[in-house]
Amino acid sequence: MLPLCQALHITVNDLLSGEKVQPADYQKKAEENMMDLMKENQENKKYMVLTVICGTITVIAVVSLVTLASYIQMPAAVRVALVVLAVATAVAGIGAAAVLDVRAGYYECPDCGALFVPSLRDYVKGYHTLTRRRLQCPVCGKTGMCRRRVVRK
Ligand SMILES: [Zn+2]
Repeated sequence: MLPLCQALHITVNDLLSGEKVQPADYQKKAEENMMDLMKENQENKKYMVLTVICGTITVIAVVSLVTLASYIQMPAAVRVALVVLAVATAVAGIGAAAVLDVRAGYYECPDCGALFVPSLRDYVKGYHTLTRRRLQCPVCGKTGMCRRRVVRK
């Protein structure tokens, strides 16, 4: 952000506010920008916790259903229904976790360092490891292994 602001002869505060901030409003705008950033970071952490809770509930539900279907005496039709329910729960749980997870934070472009939130479609398609995901940067257009960031610095 700093080199960009220097090139444009504006302050970081102007950039974040989207307008040239008057000296009289400077303090107020700076505080507003800081509050926005803090709120955003808090939201991201909230989504991350929800993702973990959602994932945990899904795993417990699926394991219980499969265990029930495997070890308890029951008619075949009920057993099949339980397995179908387990698969449906797994799909719904993974889907919900993905929706929550994509909202919890940003991905950092390895080339230009831009932070961005990918679309759910790109997110699901992207090959990934625990901390990185293959995504296309919307700023420079390059595709690379983008690092996950929960909070904006
Ligand atoms: Zn980039």
